[in-house]
Amino acid sequence: MRNALLAVALVCFAGDASGAPVKQPSKKTVKVPTKSQAKKRTVKKRWKTASGRGRFATPEDVATSPASHYGSMSSGQCLAELDVRKIPYVRDRTDGARGISTPVRLTGPLHGVEFRTNLSAKQRATTPWELADCRLILALDDFSEILAAHDIVDVRHYSMHRRVPASWPDGKPTKQHMAGNAIDAARFIARDGTFLDVDKHFNGAIGAATCGDKAAPSPATSEAVKLRGILCEAVERRLFNVVLTPNYNRPHKNHFHLEVTQGVRWFLVH
Ligand SMILES: [Zn+2]
Repeated sequence: MRNALLAVALVCFAGDASGAPVKQPSKKTVKVPTKSQAKKRTVKKRWKTASGRGRFATPEDVATSPASHYGSMSSGQCLAELDVRKIPYVRDRTDGARGISTPVRLTGPLHGVEFRTNLSAKQRATTPWELADCRLILALDDFSEILAAHDIVDVRHYSMHRRVPASWPDGKPTKQHMAGNAIDAARFIARDGTFLDVDKHFNGAIGAATCGDKAAPSPATSEAVKLRGILCEAVERRLFNVVLTPNYNRPHKNHFHLEVTQGVRWFLVH
């Protein structure tokens, strides 16, 4: 498992905004269930207007999107919001946190949902993989409301932060995982022990749509439909401005890359 973790850590979202081999999208049209079809239609229309599917887009409601809001926060504003929400965390100023603007480590669940690696309790207390930028934690707090509504209590991830190279100059900007801005979520475990696993249950295809009219898992097993529904609720609520799935490219075959990029107005969902 740890070898797999490292392999993913090395390849995830590295120069993959173009050039990946793309299959034709699936023709299957099984609908992904949502709470509000009407709301969804409105959102999809905005997406179509704003962009081609799965490419960088600036949706009409960017100004009110949680991802954009969180990504524009100062460190002080973000930490204050953690406290207002009573989110359990500790700040981290160790060398392992280098590269993160406002590094924090969760010390408990969000809305009853624990976000964690598969490491032991002792390892988890110090691993850089469980560090994140404060702004990502706010988005995960919102995401946990969606997860809790689906009775998910445990999210297993490969990593959030990934260490900067030792030679990285102080002050040189970082992004994505080195900035602690993203989580690679692999498995969503329910209270009864059943789980939704991205690798086993996503049932996507590289190049296929992820959310929206033409998006559907194939085959549309109950696990696949539920997993897709959870993800697309987060997409509709604009919690993360980068959402990459197995439909994006092979390096994402076993996890969702969910990111709050700081200081941008674009979204990338695929
Ligand atoms: Zn990632």
